[in-house]
Amino acid sequence: MKNKRIFYFLPIMVLSLLFDFQCKAENKSPQNFKKARERMVKIQIEARGITDKKVLSAMRKVERHRFVPPEYQDQAYGDFPLPIGMGQTISQPYIVALMTEVLDLDSTKKVLEIGTGSGYQAAVLAEICDSVYTIEIIDILGKRAEKLLSIMGYTNIKVKIGDGYQGWKEYVPFDAIIVTCAPLQIPQPLKDQLIEGGKMVIPVGMRFAQELVLLTKIKGKIRKTSIIPVRFVPMIRKR
Ligand code: SAH
Repeated sequence: MKNKRIFYFLPIMVLSLLFDFQCKAENKSPQNFKKARERMVKIQIEARGITDKKVLSAMRKVERHRFVPPEYQDQAYGDFPLPIGMGQTISQPYIVALMTEVLDLDSTKKVLEIGTGSGYQAAVLAEICDSVYTIEIIDILGKRAEKLLSIMGYTNIKVKIGDGYQGWKEYVPFDAIIVTCAPLQIPQPLKDQLIEGGKMVIPVGMRFAQELVLLTKIKGKIRKTSIIPVRFVPMIRKR
């Protein structure tokens, strides 16, 4: 009797496993990722008030799932940050869009990013700007991002492994600076490396009480406006 049951159930189990496998494969098809990206832009980004066409089209274009570990690919277009290894995270899509929009970028701009991480934010910037300079302190992450960005065909992004607190003197001044890890105070070298009239967006403060601020350099002085409370990984300082 028991054997007979197995005889009936075994094909059903095999079929359902095959179906499940096929569904997973379909979920990960380029077509489905494109749909998920479109939904992400509509629901998470446009609906929350992002209007800059260049930002929206970059967010529609850059394949975010390629920047996350394979086990998180099917969550790549969700409304949350995701782990990228080494205790670091790729930011929530809305925050990426918001930080990019407030910098008021266009195809003439040279941008410095501190905290390359997965390379996703750098790719979004590279779609809009003339050139992107990005610094990552964790060697493995920086090298992995550099390789992926080059495979994806980005020729206007330069990656450096180092302490972003110091900025990147060889390429000063920058039209805009974006910091994706949170220092306790705004690093003076970054203020110095911003061009007159330039903008910097940066999360500042303790681990669970940071504020995203926009700084504008006017006649050599820094004007500060608060945007929203945020939660970024802390900026690592080399001793
Ligand atoms: N922009 C990234 C998000 C990265 S999370 C993305 O799109 O995926 C923040 C990153 O900042 C981490 O990778 C972390 O290693 C890096 N970081 C922390 N302190 C840093 C420092 N002093 N200089 C450069 N990078 C730093």
